[in-house]
Amino acid sequence: MTTASPTFTLKRTGEIRAISLDVDDTLVDYSTSSRAALASMVGNADAWTLWQRITDDHCTRLLAGELQYETMRNIRTRAFFAALGEDLDQAEATRREMRRQEVLADGWSLFPDVVPCLEWLRATGLPIAAVSNASGRHQRVKIAALGLAEYFDTVLIAGEVGAAKPDRMIFDTACSDLGVPLTETVHVGDRLHADAIGARDAGMRGVWLNRQGPREGTMPAGISTISTLAELPELLVCELSTAHA
Ligand SMILES: [Mg+2]
Repeated sequence: MTTASPTFTLKRTGEIRAISLDVDDTLVDYSTSSRAALASMVGNADAWTLWQRITDDHCTRLLAGELQYETMRNIRTRAFFAALGEDLDQAEATRREMRRQEVLADGWSLFPDVVPCLEWLRATGLPIAAVSNASGRHQRVKIAALGLAEYFDTVLIAGEVGAAKPDRMIFDTACSDLGVPLTETVHVGDRLHADAIGARDAGMRGVWLNRQGPREGTMPAGISTISTLAELPELLVCELSTAHA
């Protein structure tokens, strides 16, 4: 972990004045806990891709106002099992979803590089936003339960804002909350298109956290890539803060 003096380089340049962070699979190891929770509900995690697709569809409907948050999970679970050929009544869908939620919450954990990075960021004095595509208030519960809330000056949840990344609106709202222009804010997230490219297209500095390691092909222009949050301080100090100085 890079710590120490570069902190003040950020302040002197004036180029980077705020940080925005995705939550799931950037800070929280969401996929591992979610796969385990799904396996507890269906007996295995083979249907993970199906579950993700149905979840994305239902979150889109939630954002469009077609579904209410309170009922979305139940409807999603019924749709998921219907796709597997099993029709559930509402009570059984609720029972299975509640069990999945219990296992999910038991599995919440942070990646080991998260707290050192957040401590470093906080030491810079830069305001920090969390910008999540989660669908509802459970995300705030998770953020608080994992001790993350204290690091953020604002928390944006797509299901509350009514817009999800890569929609510029949610980035814009985060920067407005922080009182910093989009152009002077770095957003870091694990999804190349929703996070890094979305942020870049909104006018921010987009950083893709690719925990899977190097990939084939050419990276989109204007995107920085890191494979761990331990690389973020050096990136901010050595590249981003000088690139526009
Ligand atoms: Mg994510």
